[in-house]
Amino acid sequence: MLAARLVAAGEPLRVEEVPVPEPGPGEALVRVHACGLCGTDLHLAVDGDIPVERTPITLGHEAAGVVVAVGRDGDRDAEGGRVALFPAASCGRCRFCLAGREALCDSAKVYGMARDGALAEYVAVPTRSLLPLPDGVPFDVGAIVTDGVATPFHALRSRGRLQAGESVGIFGCGGLGTHAIALARLIGAAPIVAVDVDARARERALELGADAAIDPGGADVAGAVRAAAGGGLDLALELVGRPETVEGAIRCLGKRGRAVVVGVGPARASLPPLVAFVGREQAVLGSFGADRGDSADLYALIAAGRLDLGGSISARYPLAEADAALRHLARDRGRVVRIVVETGAET
Ligand SMILES: [Zn+2]
Ligand SMILES: [Zn+2]
Repeated sequence: MLAARLVAAGEPLRVEEVPVPEPGPGEALVRVHACGLCGTDLHLAVDGDIPVERTPITLGHEAAGVVVAVGRDGDRDAEGGRVALFPAASCGRCRFCLAGREALCDSAKVYGMARDGALAEYVAVPTRSLLPLPDGVPFDVGAIVTDGVATPFHALRSRGRLQAGESVGIFGCGGLGTHAIALARLIGAAPIVAVDVDARARERALELGADAAIDPGGADVAGAVRAAAGGGLDLALELVGRPETVEGAIRCLGKRGRAVVVGVGPARASLPPLVAFVGREQAVLGSFGADRGDSADLYALIAAGRLDLGGSISARYPLAEADAALRHLARDRGRVVRIVVETGAET
């Protein structure tokens, strides 16, 4: 089969023939139909600031396809099922897995980082990684939901506890931020204030239903966000991963405001003076990945026609051109919503 393999960060992906993996006991073999690329792939394969466990490794952690075989003693009824993949293979036994927080699994192995991923014609995964994909959800959309949409959904709904009628600021309006705006609308948040350095990203944010879009290059960003929100924010979602953005997001909070940080990076961010932070009962929360339940709820919303992600796929590439897809994302990072690689499986 064809697989797009990372040999060394900064070097082109090598699309090459490798053996079709054998599903072990408790595993399923999935014929991949679509696999999304995301910012994490740039960290792994272009910047090299997140290490992979070994090389070469097949990239790809947001995918959907069809189960074509199960390992020894597996459930043959699963064969033929449309599925998406949870982005990591989890142990199913640690306290985080048992609580449904598999993204925090003590021994999670992220596809394309710690074990071979889905930027290939086939991938073998533990059956725990399979998320049933309803017929009403196409493979490409099913793929990007598992990370690109479920991550901001988890941050807003589960970590930030965003309520209808609350104000929200979205700091960073690339792929995740674009989806965050659509999801905040769906939850009933208002007003929604988008913050991004890129004029095109701000324009797209307004088209998607943000009530205001602020350029963080201005003199008094917190003042501008507060003016647009009619006061301090109830929730600030940070998707950039830089201290100045995190600290800027916290400065925009009102009383009982929560800053939820999804962006990751090596630098340290600091809290406001404690007299202000404590006196206003503010909170800063990290949010990592999503739960299986987040994707399941999103599929239900898409199948019911409540959430339209048809505009989220900025470009499509065949598997043979996986490296060109990655270069496109690197060139246009922050601007494209999602790039999807199609593996040639007939739908
Ligand atoms: Zn990702
Ligand atoms: Zn676990």
